[in-house]
Formats: sequence, C-alpha cells, structure tokens
Amino acid sequence: MARLEQSRLEQTPLEWDTPLFKTALAQFEQALPHASVEDSVAERLRFPERAVMVSVPVKLDEGNYHVFPAYRVQHSSVLGPTKGGIRYDSHVSLGECAALAMWMTWKCALLRLPYGGAKGGVRCEPRGLSAGELQRLTRRYTAEMMSVIGPQEDIPAPDMATDEQTMAWMMDTYSMQKGYAVPEIVTGKPISIGGSIFRHEATGVGVVMVVEQACQRLGWALGQQRCVVQGFGKVGGIAAHELVARGASVVGVADVSGGIADPEGLDLADVQRWIDEQGGLEGYPSARHVSNNELLELPCDVLVLAALEDQLTAENAPRVQTRIVAEGANGPTSLEADAILADRGIQVLPDILTNAGGVTVSYFEWVQDLGRLFWDREEIRARLSAKMTDAFDRVWDLSLERGLALRTSALVAGIQEVGNALRDRGIYP
Ligand code: NAD
Repeated sequence: MARLEQSRLEQTPLEWDTPLFKTALAQFEQALPHASVEDSVAERLRFPERAVMVSVPVKLDEGNYHVFPAYRVQHSSVLGPTKGGIRYDSHVSLGECAALAMWMTWKCALLRLPYGGAKGGVRCEPRGLSAGELQRLTRRYTAEMMSVIGPQEDIPAPDMATDEQTMAWMMDTYSMQKGYAVPEIVTGKPISIGGSIFRHEATGVGVVMVVEQACQRLGWALGQQRCVVQGFGKVGGIAAHELVARGASVVGVADVSGGIADPEGLDLADVQRWIDEQGGLEGYPSARHVSNNELLELPCDVLVLAALEDQLTAENAPRVQTRIVAEGANGPTSLEADAILADRGIQVLPDILTNAGGVTVSYFEWVQDLGRLFWDREEIRARLSAKMTDAFDRVWDLSLERGLALRTSALVAGIQEVGNALRDRGIYP
C-alpha cells in the first residue's frame, strides 16, 4: 500500500516543476551518462534539498501594506554551505529559483569552491518601489529567512535588481538579530562592511580570462581578435574594457536601447563617457547604430553574450558569424542553438565556467570575512586567474578526451565533484 501511495504521489507535479526547472533537469540527465555517478546519488541530486516560500508584508509609502511572495531554494549542501543570489523580479517563482540553484551547484563544484547552489528572490516589480520600500522589503525578507540562512548554512549575494545596498541591509538585519556584526552572512556587500576589492569587476574579467584560455588552446592571439559584446552592464561593460585592455578590438556593443558597431574597432573610452553622461548607448554619434538582433550577427571572432537568457535560438544561430560564443549571462543559448552552433564548428564557452568569476571572488570575500584578514587587488586577481585556469583546463581536456561539447564537459566536471562527495559521505541516515 505504501508503495502504491508513493507512485501516486510521484504522478503529481512537484511545486518547483516548471519549464525552467525541467530544462535544468534535462541538462543534468544529458550529462549524467558521462559522469559515472551512482543511481542513488543521481536520484538525490534531481531534487533541491530545501525549498522555502514565505510571504513578506511591506508597508508602502502611502501607508497601506502589500504582501509579496518570496522564495529561497537550496539545491545541495553536500560540499558546504549553499550560495546564490537574491533577485527582485516579477517572474520569480519556486521553479526558477530551483533551476538556478541547481546550476549554481554545478558551477561552484566545477570551480572547486566548497559550496552548493542556492537561489532566492521576491516576486515584485522593483522599479515601482521606492528606496524605503525596498529597504523594508529586504529587511523583512531577511528576517523571514533567518532560520535557513547563515555563514555556515546559506550565503546570499546580489542578483537581478539587487546590489551592494541590498546586501548591506541584509547583513545589518542578520547582525542585529545575532547581536554582533556578521559580515560573512552575504557577499557582494560594500567594501566598508567587509566587501571584497575586485568583486565588482570579477565576472567580466573572468569572462575574458576564459576567452583568453580558449584562444591559447586554438592557437590564436587574443590581441588579434575582433569582439562583439551584448550587454554593457556589470558583466558586459567590464568584459568589453578588459578585452580592449588586452589588445583585442571591440567592433560592436549593445545595451537595452540597441547596439553600435564599427568594424575598425570602437573607441570604448569615448563610448563610456557617452554612457556616463547620457545613461545609455542611444544617440551615440560616432558609430553605426544596429538593432540588438543585427548585433548578434555581426562578423567577429568572439561574441560575448552578457545581457539576458535565450539570445541565440534556432532562428538566429544559423546566421551568427563568429568563431567563439562566450556566455557571460546565464542561459543565453538555447538547447537548439547549441546544436546548430556545434554543427557549424562554433565553440560555445558555457556559462557555468565563463561567468564563474563572480562566485569565485564572492568565495574569496567570505574567506576574508571569516578570517578578518583582507587581501589586495593583485592577490585577488592572481587567485581568480588560478581558479579560472584550473577549471578551464579540466573542462577543455575532458571535452577533448571524451569528444563532448564544452557545456557537457563543464556539467560533467561539476556533477562528478558533487557525486563523488555524496558517495563518500553516504545518504543520511
Ligand atoms: P546588468 O543589469 O548590470 O547589465 C545588463 C546589461 O544588459 C545592461 O547593459 C542592459 O542595458 C543590457 N540589456 C538588457 N536587455 C538587453 C537586450 N535586450 N539587448 C541587449 N542588451 C540588453 O546585469 P549583469 O550583472 O551585467 O548581468 C548580465 C547577465 O550576467 C545576467 O544573465 C546575469 O545573471 C549574469 N551574471 C552576472 C553576474 C554578476 O556578477 N553580475 C555573475 C554571473 C552571471
């Protein structure tokens, strides 16, 4: 009877079983045959360990209250505390958090960081909230999550529409409940309260480190590559400047207002001045304007995707004119586009490797906070480079050895780390 009840239960979709979670699960299943993980271990890793949903009442500026749904999902604590961003967005759901938490598990494991993956967020329209409302929302969300977060349990970080200020409010709320300062409860916080130098640049610089490693393996000089960068924010903006600093030319960039292109190479210092003054690329006078769709199809050697998910699809992948796609954003290439690019011999440097510079320097921030001992910029940059190179080498070599796409290799490398640890620990009790 118990068995029958169990099988009936399994037919009812679980709360996190959304299309995005199904995608994360499908990627896991694709990589699994190459990862030599025991069945019991694989079965455990198909589920998040914990999924919490709360409702957060916030007093609005007009004096009335609004209640926001909010989430935190922890996928795996096998290797250490869980780690992942908090996003404020109208699409946040339990399934989105569960999918992103699973990807964070593989990313942390691939980089050999002693963490598992988590993700959380509040379903809200952040641009419609005042600073005071955002502060009250953040503090109440933190209070609701007090029992599941902690420096040894689960360490939040910024994500979409959350930033250093959000992390400062979270750190303060947590510290006030504890009665002493706990900087190691979050990463991505201001330097004044234990944030790390170089965290701001880490993801964008890490993207370029991975591109450089790929160029080296392919026998190309980074300084001779023509690059297009989609997204000019914390990841894309930094990556574009870093590419130019390394001698490459950036022939196209785009933000939400559209793109600009110059086959001779853009003057990025001039572009940056314009953005600082005008708030975006719109109206920039010294280059040809292109739509975001055109930008993705400009002839180049390296196409850096650093804006949104689902940018290369079955529709536009056949027209892309690049030799390498570097995924600075999470999930910018659809499964169908992946197959088309592979057929066309275009290398895709996968997100869980390419944008891992951010979580790596977050890990350094946590270590520095725990030790109350702070490193300088050069040391952090050197440690980041060592971590990214080590992960890149393992992914590239596995791909050559087994004839796998780089994305599958990256997933296999991450899954194996977690799978081996869970096998050795055993499934409790
Ligand atoms: P951001 O908000 O700082 O920048 C996003 C940029 O993309 C902006 O320039 C925006 O104008 C542009 N953009 C938005 N819609 C666009 C469109 N339709 N076409 C072209 N450009 C568009 O965000 P970010 O932190 O740079 O994050 C970008 C991506 O990288 C996200 O997928 C994020 O999850 C991922 N990521 C970020 C980090 C990090 O440390 N910031 C780490 C890992 C992954």
